Amino acid sequence: MTAALPANATIGIVGGGQLGRMSAMAAARLGYRCQILTPEPNSPAGQVSAGVTLGEYEDPAALRDFALHCDVITFEFENVSAEGLDLLAALRPVHPAPAVLRVSQDRIAEKAFLNGCGVGTAAWAPVESFAELEAAVARIGLPAILKTTRLGYDGRGQARLRRPDDLAPAFERLLPRPLILEGMVDFASEISVVAARAATGAYAAFDTVENHHRDHILDLTLAPARIPQATAAAAQAMAQRVAEALDLVGLLAVEMFVAADGTVLANEIAPRPHNSGHWTIDACPASQFELHIRAVAGLPLPAARRHSDAVMKNLVGPREAALWPQIVATPGLIPHLYGKTEARAGRKMGHVTRLFPRGGLPGEFGVTAALGCLAND
Ligand code: AMP
Repeated sequence: MTAALPANATIGIVGGGQLGRMSAMAAARLGYRCQILTPEPNSPAGQVSAGVTLGEYEDPAALRDFALHCDVITFEFENVSAEGLDLLAALRPVHPAPAVLRVSQDRIAEKAFLNGCGVGTAAWAPVESFAELEAAVARIGLPAILKTTRLGYDGRGQARLRRPDDLAPAFERLLPRPLILEGMVDFASEISVVAARAATGAYAAFDTVENHHRDHILDLTLAPARIPQATAAAAQAMAQRVAEALDLVGLLAVEMFVAADGTVLANEIAPRPHNSGHWTIDACPASQFELHIRAVAGLPLPAARRHSDAVMKNLVGPREAALWPQIVATPGLIPHLYGKTEARAGRKMGHVTRLFPRGGLPGEFGVTAALGCLAND
């Protein structure tokens, strides 16, 4: 067993975005310093951390310099190359392990891993050539989704295939290959589970939550998910199976679909804090960020307990960011801003949380009303 990281030690976080920012804030509360690796000056995570290594994720000199400032290394950005991961792991303990990131970086490796540990997904096939795409469509059927296997997020690098005519333009546009074809899941809802696992094997998972997207970007998370108990339990079992099969040390989110017949299918795994876990900062004694830091630092894992029900709404792009004065003037909205200076379309600028007594999460209209000035945008 790894000894707990002593107070005032330095945790390295690869990536300078809001997930790193909120992880660094949780680390500071536990008495740790953070060193951020990011190419971005004045990054959201850099603003709240003890140190920043300004450099590219693929630059060996930057990776080495970063590692030498850290006692242990973790991630908020997963897409570091295999060579870069090996370089970091040769210098310092890295949690989660590079092997975990390699699974989550590649949709084909990810789907194969999930199915290999008995977790159901949409039907899928790797696609290298147009002939393979035609064969995959013949087997899986339409509608389907063609995706790049790496670096896709928030709906980028995807094309929906509805008719045979859609195949050629989608295949030409999406690069690099191989691609992955996935059968379209006719889902009743999208849910996720965020869970932490320690080097000791200790495990803690937050309640299953429900996610609503707009323009492929997470808009709302409702905690807990308004789904039958058996469905929530199936999602929990799936997350635990994935965390254990990965021998995870750190935090993991599993995004899932609930099919019309109630079957739970895994969509993606993310071995880091996740947007659908932001509500835990306000609704739980120990948030996803605290559990992430505790797992990485070798501290005991507390239960992932929820004292309140919660709705989390993302503030995306200039229009929602502009509502900030009203948001901070609205009693009951708990504001979080990420320190980004430029509010580009589709960019996550912050989020708000609204708490309800346990069991008091309102229905659709109540959720909308509870968001005040954010309700009708
Ligand atoms: P992803 O980048 O894989 O997380 O996909 C982004 C969003 O696209 C998901 O949250 C779903 O809303 C939708 N999506 C992705 N894959 C599928 C699928 N196989 N069937 C139905 N919807 C999907």
